Amino acid sequence: MLHKRSTESGSETGEAPFIGRNLETLDDIPREIADRRLHAEFNEHIAPERFEVLREQPDVLEKPDEFAKSAKDVGLQNPEGVLGWSTKLEDSAHVLKGDVGMEIATLIHEDLHRLSSPETLREIQGDPELRQIYEGVTEYFTERAAEGLRGFEPGQIYPEEIAATAKLGFEVGDQALRDWYFSHEVTEELQKALDRLNG
Ligand SMILES: [Zn+2]
Repeated sequence: MLHKRSTESGSETGEAPFIGRNLETLDDIPREIADRRLHAEFNEHIAPERFEVLREQPDVLEKPDEFAKSAKDVGLQNPEGVLGWSTKLEDSAHVLKGDVGMEIATLIHEDLHRLSSPETLREIQGDPELRQIYEGVTEYFTERAAEGLRGFEPGQIYPEEIAATAKLGFEVGDQALRDWYFSHEVTEELQKALDRLNG
């Protein structure tokens, strides 16, 4: 299902306009681009106060050695190949510095985790299979928000999970995935599909 992209100014719908942050450091630029893209694609699913928390607690971009150290500090197993990690809305995500396109996509991915419903996050903890699906949905949404982004190549991260999510989206509709992800509203159809995948 194609999803209509809401306009950035919000003038057609009367939504609050997107207010950019003050750009003070170079890292604010990928952060700002990630925020704008998230806002443009998922605005209607994200409560403004949650978005505000995210923006007040911006993600940290780290060089490989800093990234490895902070990953170790939180006890992240196997940081090899990891591009970013996040825990909850209130805490900054950590993102590995690299090509700007990749940085922006990783910021989008981690911010989607931060913005997903706390109930959905709780639900996937301790359920490895559901967690895989949740990661797939996260990257699937990341690809939506990163569409056309220079330097970003889709299909590199979680390719199998994305394929499974695309199939799921085709079955139950994109909106049902968004409702589960951001609001923990689960349609009967989606529950059945998740149970089947999780079987
Ligand atoms: Zn992830």
